[in-house]
Amino acid sequence: MKRNHQSFLNRCLSRILLLSLCFFNLAGWTQNEMKEKLIIAHRGASGYLPEHTLESKALAYGMGADFIEQDLVLSKDDIPVVIHDIHLDEVTNVKEVFPGRKREDGRYYVIDFTFAELLQLCVNERIDRKTGEVVYPARFPSGTSSFSLHSLEQEIELIQGLNKSTGKDVGIYPEVKNPGFHREEGKDISRIVLGILEKYGYSDLNDACILQCFDRWELRRIRVELGSRLFLTQLMENRSELDDIETFAAYANAIGPHYGLLIGGIDLKANPTFNDAVKRAHALGLKVHPYTYRKDSHTGFDSFEELLRVSFEELDVDGVFTDFPDLVRNYLNR
Ligand code: CA
Repeated sequence: MKRNHQSFLNRCLSRILLLSLCFFNLAGWTQNEMKEKLIIAHRGASGYLPEHTLESKALAYGMGADFIEQDLVLSKDDIPVVIHDIHLDEVTNVKEVFPGRKREDGRYYVIDFTFAELLQLCVNERIDRKTGEVVYPARFPSGTSSFSLHSLEQEIELIQGLNKSTGKDVGIYPEVKNPGFHREEGKDISRIVLGILEKYGYSDLNDACILQCFDRWELRRIRVELGSRLFLTQLMENRSELDDIETFAAYANAIGPHYGLLIGGIDLKANPTFNDAVKRAHALGLKVHPYTYRKDSHTGFDSFEELLRVSFEELDVDGVFTDFPDLVRNYLNR
């Protein structure tokens, strides 16, 4: 009888310990996050160097980003590669290196190449496929110097290495790209990415890793079926999704809308008006991390500065994805 009583007590104590650990973790995260607005380097410091190169990530780190973003697509041999699209032709010289490897639609797919093959490509500033012109002409001159693709693991090792050498704690913000396309190709990208994150110590809410996805079914699957305890951000691109914020709160910790979704319209004095999306999200305990803040493209706003002022001071967003982490850092320092 006494033994039973003791084991009951032990069970209670271990549960209290577990609960207090959970609370400590949540409190720790909240404290970190409330400390300041998050600067999320969108594809690195991509306003200054070709997107998703290790060089652009190192520059973003030096410019004071809190988190650095990785878009992820699988290679033929299941390596998560840091690249924005499932296609290669807009940011690499794949046509010159592997001219015979396009599909019937004329496109070159990351998933058709082994990682060793992908390493043979040079990365350039993004080209508009239709016009053949660079998308942002004032940025780094396309086709100059030498840049290459890399894997998620290589980028984590860069950021964790810099964290060690600087004593800082910059986080990663990986995005699972096109999970449906990967499934059609017979690959479970989320499972592979979660495995690598776990290997590098990212598995809990308070770890310096935020996982994002546009596909709501996949993000919910990551939480429910794959059992991830990471901080999750549901990305949003359509105005109709504003009606689903409550649904997102059931499995996500943040929403990542295009900033245009937070703007209701323009008032009689030509100032932007806002909807209640940020307030509703905050009331549900969700953080709000809109995208993409660019010095050279700020539709609906007279200046980049004005977009930042409205976002941080009127909308009260919790962080922004930006191509120009230094400019957002300067703004927040003022
Ligand atoms: Ca992204």
